[in-house]
Amino acid sequence: MQPALPSSLMCSLVDESLDAVLIIDEDCIVRYANQSMQNLSGYSGEELVGKSLDALLPGAMASCHTGFVRTFTRGEAPSAVLGKVREFAIRDRNGIVIPIEMKAIDIGQHEGRRYFGAFIEDLRPRRTMEAQNAALLARLEQEAMTDPLTGIANRRAFAAEGDHMLVRARRSGAPVVVGIADIDHFKKINDENGHPAGDTVLRAVAQRMTEAARASDFVARIGGEEFGLLFPDTHADAAVGIAQRIRESVAASPIETDDGRLVHATISIGLTQISPAEQLDDGLATADCALYNAKNGGRNRVESI
Ligand code: GH3
Ligand code: MG
Ligand code: MG
Repeated sequence: MQPALPSSLMCSLVDESLDAVLIIDEDCIVRYANQSMQNLSGYSGEELVGKSLDALLPGAMASCHTGFVRTFTRGEAPSAVLGKVREFAIRDRNGIVIPIEMKAIDIGQHEGRRYFGAFIEDLRPRRTMEAQNAALLARLEQEAMTDPLTGIANRRAFAAEGDHMLVRARRSGAPVVVGIADIDHFKKINDENGHPAGDTVLRAVAQRMTEAARASDFVARIGGEEFGLLFPDTHADAAVGIAQRIRESVAASPIETDDGRLVHATISIGLTQISPAEQLDDGLATADCALYNAKNGGRNRVESI
């Protein structure tokens, strides 16, 4: 059997612990603070020992903590803190409130007085990392929903928005119109002006369409030179009117490319009102038929089925 370790080694463990360690007595007077606790609080060991714990607690906690400890010591109420991992805050020497994770323990009695110990971890590094992760996640989610070329919503965002819109519409009974807009003779635009100029045209068309649509409408790039449209709370007739406005905004003036060329671009749009029983893809298939009619009818047109 191994001999028991001397208590000086246990003391070193606590003295040197990277977690802050604090011991208070039953009157909430600090009786011990290790170096990490001194670093965290900004107080020296001499300043801390003998100080009321209230000095380390933010306003609201200071007024009730001593009462909790007293009622627990008298056996009048259980503790919601002892033996558990809890998040609190402490106030340092400069009055700065620091979020902490605390593991408090009832460490027993000595010469008729009761003592409580706590391991305390500064939560600020964890909070900073959590905030950075949340910001990164939000950016990735945003990027996953955005078309990098035009900066507008992509096909994935269109599908998600369309599904939500249809669920809401089924509940409210409001009509939803879905549309597909396709740039006319885009292959020719690319062939005559070059692929980079084609990209400029795609960006300009996306911007013009978005600006001409209502704030409640949804415009997304769902394919190479294809855009999806969603018109919530809109009957087919009204949607045709808005789609005409969108079409006209693209055709109204030529688009200037980076090398100063002027490109006349037009779009054709196919629309359909989705019936409550239909899914988004059903609507898109019908809108595609309407688009086919618009192309066959001479392009730069809106057709509805
Ligand atoms: P239509 O009027 O019948 O729609 O004819 P179109 O020429 O527009 O149709 P088609 O489907 O033949 O050509 C689409 C072209 O779009 C072909 C492809 O090279 C081009 N395209 C697809 N994505 C991009 C892109 O990101 N940038 C550029 N510049 N061109 C693209
Ligand atoms: Mg196409
Ligand atoms: Mg096309």
